[in-house]
Amino acid sequence: MYAKVIVDVAAAQINKAFDYKIPEEMIDLVKPGMRVTVPFGPRKIQGFIWKTSPESNLSKVKGISDILDPDPVLTKELLELGHWLSEETVCFLITAYQSMIPSAIRAKPKKKIRLTGDAAHLPEPLQQLFNGKHQLEWEKLTDDKKLIRLIKLAADKGTLEIDYVVKNQTNKKRVALIHLDERAMNRQASELVSSSAKKQLSALEWMQNNACEKAVPQQELIEKASVTTQVIKALTDKNLLIRSSVESYRDPYAGRTFAYMPPLELTARQRYVLRHVHQSIDEKKHVPFLLRGVTGSGKTEVYLQAIQKVMESEKEAIVLVPEISLTPQMVERFKGRFGSNVAVMHSALSAGEKYDEWRKIHRKEVKVVVGARSAVFAPFENLGLIIIDEEHEGSYKQEDHPRYHARQVALWRGRYHNCPVLLGSATPSLESYARAKREVYTLLELPDRVNDMQLPDVQIIDMRQELKNGNRSVFSGLLLEKIKDRLEKKEQIVLFLNRRGYSTFVMCRSCGYTAECPHCEITLTYHHTQSRLKCHYCGHEEHMITECPACESEQIRFFGTGTQKVEEEITKLLPEARVIRMDVDTTTKKGSHEKMLSAFGRGEADILLGTQMIAKGLDFPRITLAGVLAADTLLNLPDFRAPERTFQLLTQVSGRAGRDTLKGEVVVQSYNPDHYSIQHAKEHDFPSFCLEEMGQRKRGGYPPYYYIALINVAHEDVTKVIQTSDKIAGFLKQSLSKETKVLGPTVSPIARMKDRYRYQCMIKYRNEPNVVKVLNEILNRYQKEIAGDKLFISIDMNPQMFM
Ligand code: ADP
Ligand code: ZN
Ligand code: ZN
Repeated sequence: MYAKVIVDVAAAQINKAFDYKIPEEMIDLVKPGMRVTVPFGPRKIQGFIWKTSPESNLSKVKGISDILDPDPVLTKELLELGHWLSEETVCFLITAYQSMIPSAIRAKPKKKIRLTGDAAHLPEPLQQLFNGKHQLEWEKLTDDKKLIRLIKLAADKGTLEIDYVVKNQTNKKRVALIHLDERAMNRQASELVSSSAKKQLSALEWMQNNACEKAVPQQELIEKASVTTQVIKALTDKNLLIRSSVESYRDPYAGRTFAYMPPLELTARQRYVLRHVHQSIDEKKHVPFLLRGVTGSGKTEVYLQAIQKVMESEKEAIVLVPEISLTPQMVERFKGRFGSNVAVMHSALSAGEKYDEWRKIHRKEVKVVVGARSAVFAPFENLGLIIIDEEHEGSYKQEDHPRYHARQVALWRGRYHNCPVLLGSATPSLESYARAKREVYTLLELPDRVNDMQLPDVQIIDMRQELKNGNRSVFSGLLLEKIKDRLEKKEQIVLFLNRRGYSTFVMCRSCGYTAECPHCEITLTYHHTQSRLKCHYCGHEEHMITECPACESEQIRFFGTGTQKVEEEITKLLPEARVIRMDVDTTTKKGSHEKMLSAFGRGEADILLGTQMIAKGLDFPRITLAGVLAADTLLNLPDFRAPERTFQLLTQVSGRAGRDTLKGEVVVQSYNPDHYSIQHAKEHDFPSFCLEEMGQRKRGGYPPYYYIALINVAHEDVTKVIQTSDKIAGFLKQSLSKETKVLGPTVSPIARMKDRYRYQCMIKYRNEPNVVKVLNEILNRYQKEIAGDKLFISIDMNPQMFM
C-alpha cells in the first residue's frame, strides 16, 4: 500500500502530493486526513495523508516513519476543501490544511495512551507495559512498530484511549498544594514545633485533622486554619509540610450556568423568513440566503430557531460572528438555548481551550459551534446550516495565508452538504447585496425592529462650524448638552471613537520631527498608561521621548485624539460622570472585556467610551444616546470601501441606542457632514446608499463590477523590489486578456514594514479564467528565481485591505 502525502514544506515547487510506502504494521491504521512523519531529503518532516492507493507510479519510494494522529484530523470533505482553497487563494496546500486544525496540535504533538477499560483485556505485550500504570507515553511505546497495531485495536475496542498532550501554554494555571510529611503524620504537633509558634501549631493541627493523607490547596489551608503564607513557608522549610503543584485547566465558561432561554413567539415577519430557511433544510437543498434585517429586528432569534430545526433533523450547525461581537451576551443566547450542545471558539481562548472546544466537535459531542472566522472549518460531517452574522465584516477575511474569506468557505461547504447558508446583516456588503439583486442569493428582509420600536433619530453636527464658533473641544455643543441630559435622567450613553488612523502620535513643535518606527514607515503611537511609544505593525516599542532627537527642543506634543484623551476631557467637563473606557489598552487582560460590559450592564457607569469593539452586539436597554465623535476617520482612509465602512459603522453604532422601550438618539460629528455615506446613514436608508455607491464602484472599476487581486512584493533591498515588481507587471500584462487592467507597480501605502520595502501591483478583471494559473506562475517563477534571497511575494485575491 502507498500513501500520497502533502508534506510540510511551503514552497511553490512542491505543492503536490508525494508517494510513500505504508509499512506492513501500519496498513489499516493509516487513513486519509491523518498526519504522519516522512523522510524528505535528509530530514524527517510532517505531512497530511491525502489518499491511499495500492500502487505507485514511482519505482523507488521511501516508507512512512511515524503516525502522528490516532484518528484523522481532517475529514474527506476538509481535504477536498483545502485543495480548492489552495487554488482559489493561491496558497500552498500544506498552509491550507494547517489552518484547519487547532494550533495546539499543529506542531508535533505528544500523545498519551490511557487505560480506559480493564487491563486484563489487553493483549499480552501491552499488559506487561501497563503493569499497574494508568497511562503511558505514545512516543516511548511506538518505537516498536508492532505495538502500534495492538494499541490501535485496543483503542477501537475502548480499552485504551489515545489523546494529545496539550500544554495550556498561554493560560497555564497551577495551583499550589500542601500535604503533611510522613514525620508529621503520627506525632503531636507540639512535639514538632515550639509551643510559642502558635500559628504553626494550628496549621499543623488543621492538616492532621483534616488532610492527614491527602493534599489540599494552599489557599484552603490559609483560609480554614487562618494562617498566612509565611507560616506555611516556615513549616515547609522545616520539611513538616510539603508543597507541590498541579495544573488546573479551565473551561472558559465553567462555573457559569446558562439559564434556559425558551424560543420566543415569532413576529409574522420572522416567521416568513424562517419558513424559507426551514424549507431548504427540509428539502436538503443548498440555498444561499441574504437576510437583511435592521438592527434589533430579531435576526438572532431567527438564527436560533433555524438551528433548532437543524438539531431536530440530527444535523449540525456553524454560526460565525465577528470576533468583537463574540461578547458574553451573544454566547449566553446560544448556550442559553442549546446548553452543552454548543462549542465556542474565539481568539481570547488559550490554545489549550481552543483545542478542547475543537475536540468536542471532533468527537461529535456538540451539535453547534459559535465562533469567529476559523470556526468555519469545524470538522462536522453532517452539516445542516451555516450562519454568518454581520456578513459584511472585514474580519471574515484572513489577512495572512491562506487569505480566505469565511463566506467563500461557507458557501463551498453549503454546496458540499446540500444545506442552506444564511448570511445576515443590517448592512450587507455590496458584493452580497448585488448578488441578491441578481438572485444568486435569495434575499430575505426584516425591515422593522421587533416591538415596533422606532430606529433612533440621527443628527449630524458640522465640526468645521463648531471650530469657527471657537469650540476646540472634541464634543460639539449639542452632544455635550445631550450627555448632560442623559446623566440627569440616569440613562446610559455610548461614545464611539474610531482608533484606526486616529491614534495619538508625537511631534516636535519646533522642527516638525515625528517619532516613527525604525522598521516601518509609520508613526509610533503613544500609550499613556505605560508612557511608551509603540508600532502597531511590527510591535517595536520604545520609551517616550522628552527631547527632540532632531533639534533637542523640549517642545514635544501629542497629536490626535485617543480614547484616553477623550476620557480626560470628559472628566474635566463632567466630573460627576462615571466612565468605562474600552480599547486595546484597557482590555488586554483576559476577561476584562466581559467584566467591563457586565459592570456597564449593571449600571455602574453612565458612559461607555470605546473603539470598534463597542460598536457591535451590545444590547443594553438603558442606552438612549450614541455619539460618534469623528465619523471621518474611516472615510479618509485610502480604500475604495471607505464610504461603505463608514455607512456600516454609523448604522451599527446607531443600533446600540433605544433598543428597548426608551427612545434612542444618535449624534454624529463630522468634518464632511454632506458625504453621501453619512447622509444616508442618517436616514437609515441602505438601498439609497447602495445605489449611489454602486455608481461609484462602476466608475472606479471596483467590486462588485470587477474582481481585484493584489500582488505585494517586499525585500530589504529597494532595487530588488522595483526590478521584481516591474517584471511581474510585465508578465501579467502579457499573460492576461486585453480587458484586464494591470495597475502599477507602485509603492504600497505603507512603504516599508519590518525593514522591508514594499511595492504592489493590482489587477482588475471581470472574466479571466486563467487568473489563478497566472498568479501561481508568478510564485513559481519569481520566488524561485530569487529563492533564498528573502524576497516576499504575497498574493491577495479579493483583498479587504490595501496597506
Ligand atoms: P438583531 O440580531 O437583528 O439585532 P435581536 O435578535 O438581538 O436582533 O433582537 C433584538 C431584541 O428583540 C432582543 O432583545 C430579542 O430578545 C428581542 N426579540 C427578538 N425576537 C423577538 C420576538 N419575536 N418577540 C419578542 N422579542 C423579540
Ligand atoms: Zn514597526
Ligand atoms: Zn525638533
